[in-house]
Amino acid sequence: MPMNAPSTPAVPVVPPDATPVMAQFFEAKARQPDALLFFRMGDFYELFFDDAVKAAEALGITLTRRGKAGGEEIPMAGVPVHAAEAYLAKLIRMGFKVAVCEQMEDPSEAKKRGSKSIVRRDIVRVVTPGTLTEDSLLDARGSNRLAAVAVRSGRAAVASVELSTGDVESLLVAREDLAAALGALRPSETLAADRLFADELVNAALKQAGGAVQPMAAALSEPAGAEARLKRLYGVDTLDGFGDFAPAEIAALGLIAAYIETTQAGKAPILKAPRRGAEAEFMAVDPATRSSLEIDRAQSGAREGSLLAAVDRTVTSGGARLLGARLSRPLLDPAAIDARLDAVEYFVERRPLRREARDVLKGSGDMARALARLTLGRGGPRDLGALRQGLTAGLELGALFASAREPLAAPPAELAEALAALAPDAELSALLEDLRQGLVEELPLSARDGGFVAPGFRPELDQARALRDDSRKVVATLEAEVQAQSGVALKVKHNAVLGYFLETSAKQGEPLMRPPLNATFIHRQTLADKVRFTTVELADLDARIAQAGERALAMETETFEGFRARAASLAAPIQLAAEALARLDVASALAEWAEEAQAVRPMVDQSRQFLVEGARHPVVEAAVRRSGEAFTPNDCALDGLGEAGPRLAVVTGPNMAGKSTFLRQNALLAVLAQAGAFVPARKLTLGVVDRLFSRVGAGDDLARGRSTFMMEMVETAAILTQATDRSLVVLDEIGRGTATYDGLAIAWACAEALHEVNKARTLFATHYHELARLEERLDHVGNLSMRAKEWNGELVFLHEAGPGAADRSYGVQVARLAGVPPQVVARAREVLETLEAEEASPARLDDLPLFAAARPAPVVEPSAVDRALAAIDPDELTPREALDALYRLKGLS
Ligand code: ADP
Ligand code: MG
Repeated sequence: MPMNAPSTPAVPVVPPDATPVMAQFFEAKARQPDALLFFRMGDFYELFFDDAVKAAEALGITLTRRGKAGGEEIPMAGVPVHAAEAYLAKLIRMGFKVAVCEQMEDPSEAKKRGSKSIVRRDIVRVVTPGTLTEDSLLDARGSNRLAAVAVRSGRAAVASVELSTGDVESLLVAREDLAAALGALRPSETLAADRLFADELVNAALKQAGGAVQPMAAALSEPAGAEARLKRLYGVDTLDGFGDFAPAEIAALGLIAAYIETTQAGKAPILKAPRRGAEAEFMAVDPATRSSLEIDRAQSGAREGSLLAAVDRTVTSGGARLLGARLSRPLLDPAAIDARLDAVEYFVERRPLRREARDVLKGSGDMARALARLTLGRGGPRDLGALRQGLTAGLELGALFASAREPLAAPPAELAEALAALAPDAELSALLEDLRQGLVEELPLSARDGGFVAPGFRPELDQARALRDDSRKVVATLEAEVQAQSGVALKVKHNAVLGYFLETSAKQGEPLMRPPLNATFIHRQTLADKVRFTTVELADLDARIAQAGERALAMETETFEGFRARAASLAAPIQLAAEALARLDVASALAEWAEEAQAVRPMVDQSRQFLVEGARHPVVEAAVRRSGEAFTPNDCALDGLGEAGPRLAVVTGPNMAGKSTFLRQNALLAVLAQAGAFVPARKLTLGVVDRLFSRVGAGDDLARGRSTFMMEMVETAAILTQATDRSLVVLDEIGRGTATYDGLAIAWACAEALHEVNKARTLFATHYHELARLEERLDHVGNLSMRAKEWNGELVFLHEAGPGAADRSYGVQVARLAGVPPQVVARAREVLETLEAEEASPARLDDLPLFAAARPAPVVEPSAVDRALAAIDPDELTPREALDALYRLKGLS
């Protein structure tokens, strides 16, 4: 069930015959009507009515009935509390939201208020994809962002939060760039005011972003309320300290604040001040390009087969998440890119240091997510353990660098900053010291049963434990004693209701019920074939054990709570340290990969060049190698100014010759370089790419309900309107989806426009060999072709890009290779020869007008209505003003 489906039919108003507990259920359900309500009853979370029906079907659990409401039986289904996380995970993956309604007191406390009182219950959390923090519900190596979009005065804002790192970001973009900005974040869940769904651009961006979409009441994005909620979330009186946010940004951040308030039921995560991303900070990569280049996901949707998977050598979850984020959002500023490259190079040049650093990082745990759980009150001892691990690793890394540092080779700024964040201040050191001394080695997930505080840390705790354990030992020796005393085969047993007791068969127990033995053996319980007794001594020991156990547990809980509070108060430096570990991991992992893949440092500057020698496609190369073959490296030279190479290269060559691989590998080099990674090539000089476009002709997209060709044209249109003279465009067989002349005409016109109007650096692969003639007609067009040879009647692909156009397409040869029957292939050859003879003169193409694409569009003066319309901002109008404006417009026309 998608989350933006209309909410489930309202639960009936509380029927008069509802029991007090059911009335409590109705009240809770009314507050979260569109979530499944997990209603805690003892050891189970129960679901009722429609929720029960849906959950039973989704989870394959039994649907039963419980009592009646309004004369109807109430459907019910339940999951045991101890197994709830697994069920939750499944429901969340299927797109459900789940509200967890807990018992807020012990049943015994309710009883104190009167025998008819019921346990207080309350919703403690609404579980949604974007607000998860549990390891069992999350992909450790993938980010989990909650995003929100808002549009004001024609500008769009994308706000996002990652609960595990506390990162909050806001980005103001043109409405047209919403899809690219949102897609780069890969949010698990996106919030938008419900009225925005009428805006087609926004709607498309939300669909393409993937993840769940959560409509919000439009009122929640109104400025005043949004600002108030933000202040509440951060506990500040004014937002001025955060910088100057546009109204759209406040609206989007306000939606996030509202959603955190409801889903976390008032528990505040520890968030960093919102960072304002600059529009000019990241390379724009729209969702179609992202998916066509398989940057972080293969077309199948899996991580496997993507660029990210191919280059990822990180050894921590935090590092993996940071690397994913960096590849998703390559930078634009050469200085910032160089800072990252410096860090990679430092590790490339120091293999022993790198190996040691990676060994330390491997054991550094996941502090970011552990801290998030602790601050949200969902953490356990193992999360404290993760802090211990991470902070320890930080110290070790500091020591490692200090000892390895040569006087002339201080680490570059990116690494020096990270190391500084890992050098703990006095408070953090004290916390680490206490965690080391206070916690045992192997920690339990939950604090509930104790057993995690190390011996020696609290003397009173040790005493209580000793008392408990000594008494247990005494109990263990008791069995022999009572057997000797009574001559009956009594066994010492324990359960939660009776505590320790003595048990024997009904028949053997008989003498114990009569004098004189009944003076010593006190009867407690008779079962079908067993009787149970206690003695004064055993009851006494039992009480002592229970008391000591309770005291020990209380002290452990207190210790945990103390650690938790200290961690929360040190959240900021801990978050910084976690980020520093991730950065060290990414830099050293990229260096590791660079060595493996023989990648080199790219030179990134403000030129318009794209000069690459000996480049390889990281994913295809791995596949080719696996099948025991060698990958052929290729050069490529493009220059927007047309000096060091053509601006637009037409790439021809037979099917399977390697055109698509060549195109994509070049686009991927730009992504890698600007993300701050080395590139699989011998050399790359890259003038920063502001926007990257990659399209493949005739990709079916039935899911979005558009015809293949329509799709292709929609995407091509986006390129022609958005590409600039700093962009890199990769077009693979555009125009393939329609009739030959149609397709050729469109491909021709697009190539002309890209060359003359957009002036973008472009690789244009095509099977229309006619396009090779563009070289003669436009200044900065060059031909490239993928070489193939016919050898002994066999077609051999060399996968080698060279200057000049392919002479023929070898379609018939490919057909033969593919196993088309010989008689069909022979006939095809005949037909081809005839056709080629007839089509002797390609004169038609010479008649095309030159530079048609560069013709200026006719200038149309805006009318009075146009001007009046442009002056109106619908978001700023009251309904009354809107009506007035309409009358005014009517008068003008
Ligand atoms: P085209 O787009 O021209 O039809 P592709 O780029 O899809 O060709 O490549 C087809 C196959 O050829 C790839 O799957 C890969 O196995 C192989 N190939 C492509 N480029 C190279 C190369 N540079 N070196 C080795 N094999 C390659
Ligand atoms: Mg191809």
